[in-house]
Amino acid sequence: MIEIKDLHKSYKMGSNSLHVLKGINFNVAEGELVSIMGSSGSGKSTLLNILGMLDEADSGSYTLDGVPIKDLNEKIAARYRNKFLGFIFQSFNLISYKNALDNVALPLYYQGMKRGERIEKAMSYLEKVGLADWAGHLPNELSGGQKQRVAIARALASDPKMLLADEPTGALDSKTSYEVMNLIQEINDEGRTILVVTHEPDIAAMTKRIVNLKDGKIIQDTRVNQVRALENV
Ligand code: ADP
Ligand code: MG
Repeated sequence: MIEIKDLHKSYKMGSNSLHVLKGINFNVAEGELVSIMGSSGSGKSTLLNILGMLDEADSGSYTLDGVPIKDLNEKIAARYRNKFLGFIFQSFNLISYKNALDNVALPLYYQGMKRGERIEKAMSYLEKVGLADWAGHLPNELSGGQKQRVAIARALASDPKMLLADEPTGALDSKTSYEVMNLIQEINDEGRTILVVTHEPDIAAMTKRIVNLKDGKIIQDTRVNQVRALENV
């Protein structure tokens, strides 16, 4: 699914330059559940943003599902990203004046889907994340865990091949974090490829493979026995 070779990224600030990614080599196969772990500032979000085509590397190559990303023009890249990738963020990024259902339906609107079909599909994804009864509620009427479930339903709505989650449990207490990771595991069990960025070892342990990032380099890449959340933790 993902093939990156010798990826480098620096941020330029005036006459200074900060070398954040220093030659990353990394492959992800279809169906994997991978965590990218590292301390704050290690370059996790930078890497995930490049993988998510939200940012570009300075050098190196990136092939997503067989397509070299550098060759795409901006318009095609955007279409490719919307079709191929679903994003989940620490801060949920829900639209505050739209209810749960409309938040989930929004990507389908941008795909040009008709309203009836859109609502039906969005509702099925809300059901999937256990929030059918909350469809008419605004984000500020939902708990943190519920908000993240809505965001996950929204990410799934366009049926992306891969989900990219940047600290999806960063704003949640530990019980809720396990519940959200449990949902992510279920979605992966159905065959969807998922990348989770986290600085928490407990969260990484719930994935199948941990890639350790330090000072802009991968220092360890280990397959692990996935920890499963217990019922009623
Ligand atoms: P992480 O997600 O692991 O905390 P980031 O990828 O966000 O790390 O950041 C890596 C380093 O790059 C940090 O030192 C951060 O301050 C810096 N950085 C991130 N984004 C930018 C930016 N847009 N401009 C300048 N520096 C940045
Ligand atoms: Mg980050």
